[in-house]
Amino acid sequence: MTSNAEVIVAGAGPVGLLLACELALAGVRVTVLDRRTEAVPQSRALTMHGRTLEMLALRGVAGRFLARGMPIPSGHFAGLPTRLDFSACDSSCPFTLFIPQSVTEQLLEAWAGELGVDVRRGATVESTGQDEEGVWVAGTRAGTPFRLEARYLVGADGARSLVRRQAGIAFDGVPPTRTAMLGDVLLSTPPPGRALSLGNPAGGLMVVPLGGELYRVIVVDAQEIDVPVEVPVTLDGLAAATRRVAGDDFGMHAPQWLSRFSNQTCLAQSYRQGRIFLAGDAAHIHLPAGGQGMNVGMQDAMNLGWKLAGVLRGRAGASGMASLLDSYEAERHPVGAALYRNTLAQSALMMESFDPAGQALRATLSELMKGPELNATLAHELSGFGIRYRAALLPTPQGGEACARWTGRRVPDWPLRHADGTASSLYRHLAGGRWVALRVDESAQTGWQGALDGGWVDMVTAAVPGREAELEGVAVLVVRPDGYVDHAIAAVMPAQASLG
Ligand SMILES: Cc1cc2nc3c(=O)[nH]c(=O)nc-3n(C[C@H](O)[C@H](O)[C@H](O)COP(=O)(O)OP(=O)(O)OC[C@H]3O[C@@H](n4cnc5c(N)ncnc54)[C@H](O)[C@@H]3O)c2cc1C
Repeated sequence: MTSNAEVIVAGAGPVGLLLACELALAGVRVTVLDRRTEAVPQSRALTMHGRTLEMLALRGVAGRFLARGMPIPSGHFAGLPTRLDFSACDSSCPFTLFIPQSVTEQLLEAWAGELGVDVRRGATVESTGQDEEGVWVAGTRAGTPFRLEARYLVGADGARSLVRRQAGIAFDGVPPTRTAMLGDVLLSTPPPGRALSLGNPAGGLMVVPLGGELYRVIVVDAQEIDVPVEVPVTLDGLAAATRRVAGDDFGMHAPQWLSRFSNQTCLAQSYRQGRIFLAGDAAHIHLPAGGQGMNVGMQDAMNLGWKLAGVLRGRAGASGMASLLDSYEAERHPVGAALYRNTLAQSALMMESFDPAGQALRATLSELMKGPELNATLAHELSGFGIRYRAALLPTPQGGEACARWTGRRVPDWPLRHADGTASSLYRHLAGGRWVALRVDESAQTGWQGALDGGWVDMVTAAVPGREAELEGVAVLVVRPDGYVDHAIAAVMPAQASLG
């Protein structure tokens, strides 16, 4: 087996596939290797959060996912009765999308195919290495050994990541101490309203309709909370646990998938070692609470994809952007740390709170979540809308407070109005994966003399109706390919400003 790839991605899960799309969009040759001969039919994830959808909208493909899923305006934190309200989030996607992971992966693989990504299934990565010039990957496909070389390697190979282990990157955290059961089963007498979420001294239960008579049942059973994750789940065991928590097993039968998952929580010590990067479950694992692992992983993938492509295409420029690849870890490791913290907190609330004190804690927090401020804080954290990067990647002109507050901020898909009377939207200009210098003050001078290759930046001049107050004092917003503002340039420019 040979390949002329510039980047090898280990793992064709949602993270590896999205990363490959992002690279291919920029013309980077990428080969994805996955040991499975076919995609997994079961869907671990059912929730796609609004920020992930926004990212797909940034590349013009969100419609494909929206067409296959169902928007839901609220979500949960630790299964507490007070729902998280996403409708107040400033986004064109202020909801979560109910969409099975298998569908997400199918759509990503189809898109990867359109972009010319080389996905090779049945190819198991067994060892990896690097030197100053590049990386190598050795493994076996259909009984035949292979060795491939490339400039960079990304481990998107899941929780037990071989790439991570071979790179010697520590993956420390909290061992699995609690487990829960999952079943995709038919219910002959489903709960009223078809969906159910409850928590009580016997445990917790979620019932989610998957279509027809098929339902996902997740049970946290106080009596079986210590059962090791390797112990197989039986239909009888799931039904008995469901009865203990809900007083009814809803006539469950014909299981399509039975599994157990744990609260094991680990975070890679670093996301990069030289030419090798980690993304997704390879970098972080945790209790699947609040539907976050795949979403955060896909957001890792986008963050890394355009940066790696920019460096490979020589577009990052010699000055100012030398640390572009380091910024991946600088930006995404704190997001992984926040994920680590919020899922451990949810683990305590869902898997350790059966006694009266724990029940009281749950009730108190649920009550507090009725307050809009706490509700919005948690909704922004779980959806990914709340992520803000701390520092600009480009050297920035002095812009004062009006500009400083834009650094690292996500911009939604603003409608734009151009001087000739035409309309567009911001994300349409970002669909090609390039930077956009959005000139919101027409009297500001044009031209770009920043640290970026001119071919990587599109100048767009437009007013942003309804955002005038927010943009007061700003002439240009320099927006990164992933829809975050790198920096803003002031309306009254100092002499050393980077616009000519
Ligand atoms: C019960 C449950 C429910 C969940 N619900 C949600 C949810 O609603 N929302 C959410 O965001 N997340 C959810 N998650 C988490 C989500 O499923 C994962 O975070 C997501 O699958 C991670 O994607 P990935 O691409 O990083 O890894 P994976 O999906 O694990 O993909 C890794 C790929 O790498 C391949 N691979 C591994 N080793 C090798 C090797 N040596 N050589 C070649 N290929 C290799 C594997 O075959 C696999 O295809 C849930 C998880 C569970 C368990």
